[in-house]
Amino acid sequence: MDFSVPDDVKLLQSTVREFVRDRLAPLTMQVEHDDAVPSEVLQEMKDLGLFAIPFAEEYGGGGFGELGYCVAMEELGAVNAAYSNIIGGHCSLSGAAIALAGSDHLKQRYLPAMATGEKLGAFALTEPNAGSDAAHIQTTARRDGDHYVLNGSKLWVSNGPMADLYTVFAVTDKEQGSKGVTAFVVDRDTPGLTIGKVDEKMGLRGSKTSEIFFDECCVPAENVIGEEGRGFRVAMQTLDGGRIALGASCVGQAQTALTMSIQWSRQRVQFGRPIASNQAIQWMLADSEVDVHAGRWMTYHAAWKIDSGQRASHEAAVVKVYCSEMLNRVVDRAVQVHGGMGYMKEFDIERMYRDARIVRIYEGTSEIQRMIIADDLLRDE
Ligand SMILES: Cc1cc2nc3c(=O)[nH]c(=O)nc-3n(C[C@H](O)[C@H](O)[C@H](O)COP(=O)(O)OP(=O)(O)OC[C@H]3O[C@@H](n4cnc5c(N)ncnc54)[C@H](O)[C@@H]3O)c2cc1C
Repeated sequence: MDFSVPDDVKLLQSTVREFVRDRLAPLTMQVEHDDAVPSEVLQEMKDLGLFAIPFAEEYGGGGFGELGYCVAMEELGAVNAAYSNIIGGHCSLSGAAIALAGSDHLKQRYLPAMATGEKLGAFALTEPNAGSDAAHIQTTARRDGDHYVLNGSKLWVSNGPMADLYTVFAVTDKEQGSKGVTAFVVDRDTPGLTIGKVDEKMGLRGSKTSEIFFDECCVPAENVIGEEGRGFRVAMQTLDGGRIALGASCVGQAQTALTMSIQWSRQRVQFGRPIASNQAIQWMLADSEVDVHAGRWMTYHAAWKIDSGQRASHEAAVVKVYCSEMLNRVVDRAVQVHGGMGYMKEFDIERMYRDARIVRIYEGTSEIQRMIIADDLLRDE
């Protein structure tokens, strides 16, 4: 076993860490207040190659694989989950579906522009009547000559209002259940595609989600990702990588909450001594360290499995449950260590507490991940 992080990934890590410290960290309050990442900052992120990290070099990507991508997501999550959510919707969800299952033509057409950030991607699976039960989506795609005609609506699409292209899942054969779902790339300017309401959320300010509507939306047949009827499989395989990368963002967020808790507990004096001198506080710090450590290494292990060509659906579900719940525990302890200060909007911990709540819900809830894990455990030999 070799636990060392490769040199090229270490270099990527220090580059992203420096950018996060110098450029993104000072903007946290502004992004929170405006509910938007300034366009010039998004451009700097693109120029640095942050939109390209996991894509193959032959398509203009960084070629860093899942591990490099996870290390970068950890750094981005550490400053503000809004950034890792924007990159996640683009790379691990929208782009990954094309990279995993798209034809050479689709990859050539979309991935280089996605890698430079010229085209921003979004992943549109969830619908008003199909969240956890994603196989029962109702958006339809009717074949018409060399086109498919899409009708229906999608909900809470991350990057939805700003995206240039959408990875969309629609039913091509209702009788076939999950085997009747097909994945498409749909350009934003396709007639019949409209952007609906932009959501007001509890947290993740700066990362926009919205509804997307399809009304007789005509998509060329060559925009099918993979084969007709294989879309649900594409979605699930894509989500494997997405869940691991989301775990990495959770690790970054949790590490920041722990670091801030250590600093605060050293400087806050009550009863004539720093609160860090109380065992009750020390145990919260120690428990959070155990949580972050375990989350980081299970994430790296799952990423390594993907990079070595192995299937990691089981590990992805384990990482998703553990890291999302771990983050919620760590941030909750961080609020406790900070006392009333942790409840105040002037302090980052308050934002992090709200941001953390979503990770137990999206990209498959904790309950659905436990169902996947239990199915694996109980499957007949
Ligand atoms: C901020 C945000 C961003 C998002 N971004 C995207 C995106 O980019 N693309 C996209 O496609 N979707 C996105 N989503 C949607 C997200 O993936 C769904 O919210 C999620 O899959 C859960 O679906 P639901 O909200 O409909 O909950 P439901 O499926 O209605 O579930 C409600 C509750 O019931 C539980 N439950 C459901 N079925 C079972 C069962 N069989 N056994 C036990 N418990 C069960 C769930 O675990 C949950 O606790 C986003 C959501 C949010 C809030």
